[in-house]
Amino acid sequence: MITESKIHEECGVFAVFSSEKTDVASTVYYGLFALQHRGQEGCGIAINDDGVISCYKDLGLVNDVFSHSVMDKLGHGNMAIGHVRYGTTGNNDRNNVQPIVVNHVKGRMALAHNGNLINSTELREALELKGSIFHTTSDTEVISYIITKERLTAPSIEEAVNKAMDSLEGAYSLVVMSPSKLIAARDPKGFRPLCYGRTEDGRYIIASETCALDAVGAKFVRDIEPGEIIVITRDGIQSIKEHCGKEKQSLCIFEYIYFARPDSFVDGRSVHAARVRAGELLAKTHPVEADVVIGVPDSGLDAAIGYAKASGIPYGIGFIKNKYIGRTFIAPGQKSREDRVKIKLNPIAEVVSGKRVVMVDDSIVRGTTSARIVRLIREAGATEVHVRSSAPPFIAPCYYGVDIDSKDKLIACNHPMDEIREIIGADTLGYLNFDDVEKIAEGSHCGGFCVACFNEVYPTRPPKGTKNKFEQPIPEEIKNKVKKGEE
Ligand code: SF4
Repeated sequence: MITESKIHEECGVFAVFSSEKTDVASTVYYGLFALQHRGQEGCGIAINDDGVISCYKDLGLVNDVFSHSVMDKLGHGNMAIGHVRYGTTGNNDRNNVQPIVVNHVKGRMALAHNGNLINSTELREALELKGSIFHTTSDTEVISYIITKERLTAPSIEEAVNKAMDSLEGAYSLVVMSPSKLIAARDPKGFRPLCYGRTEDGRYIIASETCALDAVGAKFVRDIEPGEIIVITRDGIQSIKEHCGKEKQSLCIFEYIYFARPDSFVDGRSVHAARVRAGELLAKTHPVEADVVIGVPDSGLDAAIGYAKASGIPYGIGFIKNKYIGRTFIAPGQKSREDRVKIKLNPIAEVVSGKRVVMVDDSIVRGTTSARIVRLIREAGATEVHVRSSAPPFIAPCYYGVDIDSKDKLIACNHPMDEIREIIGADTLGYLNFDDVEKIAEGSHCGGFCVACFNEVYPTRPPKGTKNKFEQPIPEEIKNKVKKGEE
């Protein structure tokens, strides 16, 4: 559900394997800290100490959830996995925070996941009909059931993951920890990024983004291929590629535009360079006479640099973003939304006053935030405001782990371009041309992209049932039965 004027990624995963017992929880802490932009609602770490898996997770930011005392209790081990969550499937409650730890007949397993399955409703129904009871409303628990079911007959945990992948459809970048193995798997279409690296002292690191490898001093080794499973044990690393190359890759193009951190590389392409390229393309297709180019922090900044470079218009720092505000910020009192935007983002009048301003943002979703920001720049003295979006117009929902669940609130679905320009109060408006969107990833080794929210051409069949099917309100007939004591 789009609750704000920005869309959100679902999650980030991180894992470490060390052949020696060490402070692996701290490594995961720093990794998750670097991935915080991928999810701010909850986080967790599961640690493996000689086959004994313990886990701590809660709602909140990494820094808040993992206090010194919690970290001390987690102690040392030889592997650990972690997760940051922005929930799109499953309520934002403690139960849905990951990693999930399950006991099954062949032992314990911890699992964390980034992405959304398109067949979780069908899988869950089939499992429930056979007697499975679910404790959460997230896809991740469905994945863990499928893996443990396969593990009953598979000779190893990696073979169980491999078999489970035959049933899973949609987007998933997984980290799985058994008592002695660390496993990472990426769905055959490679919707979400996943890579691994090594530290100087030989620890293996798996992460959603390369910026998390940097944060723990690991050197990037390579991206995990779409469909690939890697298995790390004391004997080293092994790759299973049975699911590789069977499907065309569909990396989410929005990873480059907005989700990933600009200091990350996704499938071989620098995110910063991709955004600069988007700005350059925008300058060519939507030129305008202006005095200064500014970017809306954070992900509009790189594209603004590109626009300035290609247009020859000077780049300026147009806004100061309050660094101390998280997504959970609550404005006390009766502050209007306008005032709340001002608290987060304030224009630098010196840069925009008396100027014709090009304002580059990463996207326009509902248009409400864009309208407020344009007003702020005008109030700061800008004589003209020309809005440029480094993404094409959003016209369709996402089924793969991003919270665009319907067309209702997408401004581009409900208004023609000129009306959008009027609604947001811009003098001119230009979006990245759809035909240019894949050009931003030039140089990546990616075999193809998902651009479905811009053209409604999905790389998979549509999901059956709604994403939040397991969270629907209790039907009246059940409520009545409860009242009568029959349920
Ligand atoms: Fe990314 Fe859009 Fe595809 Fe979703 S539909 S995976 S946001 S490109």
